[in-house]
Amino acid sequence: MTPLRLDHRDFLPDLAGVPARDVRNLFPDSTLISLAGQNPQPLFVSVLIHGNETVGWEALKRLQVWMTDHILPRSLLIFIGNVRAAELEQRMVPNRPDYNRIWRAGDTPEHDLAARVTAIVRDARPFAAIDLHNNTGANPHYALVHHNRPDHLHLTSLFSPNAMLTSNPPGTCSEAMSAFCPAITAECGHSGVAANEDAAFNLLLDALHLDHWRNQPDRPLNVYTVTGAIKVAAEARMVFAHGADGDIEFPASLEKWNFFERPAGSTFARLLNAGNPLHVTTETGEDVTDDCFLRDGDRLLLTRDFTPCMLTTDEAAIRADCLGYLMEKQA
Ligand SMILES: [Zn+2]
Repeated sequence: MTPLRLDHRDFLPDLAGVPARDVRNLFPDSTLISLAGQNPQPLFVSVLIHGNETVGWEALKRLQVWMTDHILPRSLLIFIGNVRAAELEQRMVPNRPDYNRIWRAGDTPEHDLAARVTAIVRDARPFAAIDLHNNTGANPHYALVHHNRPDHLHLTSLFSPNAMLTSNPPGTCSEAMSAFCPAITAECGHSGVAANEDAAFNLLLDALHLDHWRNQPDRPLNVYTVTGAIKVAAEARMVFAHGADGDIEFPASLEKWNFFERPAGSTFARLLNAGNPLHVTTETGEDVTDDCFLRDGDRLLLTRDFTPCMLTTDEAAIRADCLGYLMEKQA
């Protein structure tokens, strides 16, 4: 196995005008950048772990402009992740591992790279770790957090009132970092939207200025746990318009339900034929459909209060992955 290169820098080259797809002009390989700030305990920030999710790169540009007339309040350790995928403007390089699934033990060069980065970050005793991502579908900003502890939830609350408490999928960057510091994945909405890049930049500023963790989140925080993924049977015909011919009908505005609570007894879908092609499976593969859905005539009702997330009406995405997830709010 030829190891992947990991470069080290102690300065940030001029990012102005450089789109993420040209990242290799400045960083030919994955790179760790150390910048000294007033508080030496660094904030770890990872960007471009997914090559087509440019929010972190754009947030770094804003931070660089800000640093021209502000002293960095805390040291930074920045990881520029999958530069080859960024060059291709794709999530990952075809036939190579997803850079957000390589942070647990594994035998690829990418796992080895992640292990080396993790060791360096751990040794730096970071204050916190923030992994910046974009996502698809109509979702509000939300964070993935991995421990139900005050410092982790305080970090989470700096970004969004919406948090998923999960260790799934396994092998994410923030999960690895959460073993030794508060860590989140910040899901910042669609790529290429200035407001999302501003939100990521503001999160970095807030975390850089924070002096210590508090026992309470700064702002109200809804912490959700995932009940299961909603899958549609392969043979089922799904429709997103009323009156169309199919096996199961969803509202055209399905994505609008993301992170809005749907009460027990409310209709989730209409069943146009016998049987229910929707199945809910937990992270461990257990079928919990009957705990979530109840058929009443042609309507599929929710059995309990659920908050859906990552619902999509993109049929290819549904076939490849799932319709979305059902979550429940923690008390
Ligand atoms: Zn991502």
